[in-house]
Amino acid sequence: MDFPPYPSGLRLAGRRVLVVGGGSVAQRRVPHLIAAGADVHVVSPEVTPAIEGLVGSAEVTWHRRGFEDADLDGAWYVIAVTDDVAVNDRVSALAEEQRVFCVRSDDGTQGTAWTPAVGRHGGVTVAVLGNREPRRSAALRNEIVEALREGRIAAPEHHDRTPGVVLVGGGPGDPGLMSIAGHRALMEADVVVADRLAPREVLGELPADVELVDVAKLPRGRSAQQEEINRVIVERALEGKRVVRFKGGDNFVFGRGYEEIIACRAAGVPVTVIPGLTSPVAVPAIAGIPVTHRGVTHEFTVVSGHLPPGHPESLVDYDALARMRGTVVLMMAVENSPEIAKALLAGGREPGTPVAVVCDGTMPTQRTVLATLSTLGATVASEKVQPPAIIVVGEVVRVAFPDAFPDAAPTTAGAAAVADG
Ligand code: SAH
Repeated sequence: MDFPPYPSGLRLAGRRVLVVGGGSVAQRRVPHLIAAGADVHVVSPEVTPAIEGLVGSAEVTWHRRGFEDADLDGAWYVIAVTDDVAVNDRVSALAEEQRVFCVRSDDGTQGTAWTPAVGRHGGVTVAVLGNREPRRSAALRNEIVEALREGRIAAPEHHDRTPGVVLVGGGPGDPGLMSIAGHRALMEADVVVADRLAPREVLGELPADVELVDVAKLPRGRSAQQEEINRVIVERALEGKRVVRFKGGDNFVFGRGYEEIIACRAAGVPVTVIPGLTSPVAVPAIAGIPVTHRGVTHEFTVVSGHLPPGHPESLVDYDALARMRGTVVLMMAVENSPEIAKALLAGGREPGTPVAVVCDGTMPTQRTVLATLSTLGATVASEKVQPPAIIVVGEVVRVAFPDAFPDAAPTTAGAAAVADG
């Protein structure tokens, strides 16, 4: 198999780099190593006049002799460029043993690293790795650098630079489920304020100079944390920056997004919204459960279960929910699910009503646990269900998993028959 090389920018400042050989190839490499601030050690009985000129004037030490195994000690990177294959073999074998990346000038396939054709323009380094076709790489490098100089191609500054706040919904977790507009806004941001449930993989793509504020690391406590978030987004926007408030799912679905809108408006900061796929719809879908199905339900209700039924601050009418016949999607409800199931049963839902608990939707650890309203509490405990999870209650779960729930519930089956007829 001929795998392509993995490109990487090495930061060599102050780090020992061994160059074995002092001929014309070494002469071409050494200046680049010096430019990178490396602690360069050249081992060779003879060196070219150009290399000799660098010794002493820069961070180059010349060891005027043949290669010895101990030369590799402490090296981060090795360049074997003698005209003696046996020496190069010895160097690369030792380097392999010591897990130091080694470039070989005589036979690239025997080395563990390749030197790209390098050019610089406007603070950007252009590195081209041809498939062992150095002339082609160099020609392409020249083309790119020349085009940059002449302005035929530009490192684009076409980013939207208007200061302000953009609320970006990141979807349920898989970065591939983010919107294109959301992704673009993220890549154009100066500051990103990200939640724990936001698709974090995408954060790795952010340019290095973007300020990342991790909400998971802010002090806990619901209102203090939100106040801090409001303060940060407003403050940065007032400094003239583009701020993305990056959340899992959609910012307005139990995401406190509108509190942020209010804070921005109060401070005169422009704010826009890019909606995200919200987990109460997307996570069941990913798990194969439709939140509606023709003839089965004409409604679905999304409920926050972060407070137990009957809690003085709860705004959920569980009696009404129990009297409705459609799908109930519970969020933030793992802890209170036994109490919620009881409340729905007490209000008249059938004990055999199918329930699916979808944990870690779209993540590698995603799993679906099935239960009924009467067994939900016990199942959540025995299966050790942990948030984040979406709990889907209703006949749609039977539609998705007919084998797990063979007996049709009498009431809805009748309704379905009528609706389908
Ligand atoms: N704004 C988010 C919801 C935030 S509330 C949205 O629109 O989706 C947090 C709750 O969302 C979690 O407790 C869980 O119930 C649900 N949730 C979010 N992402 C999830 C995921 N990938 N898998 C399962 N549940 C998820």
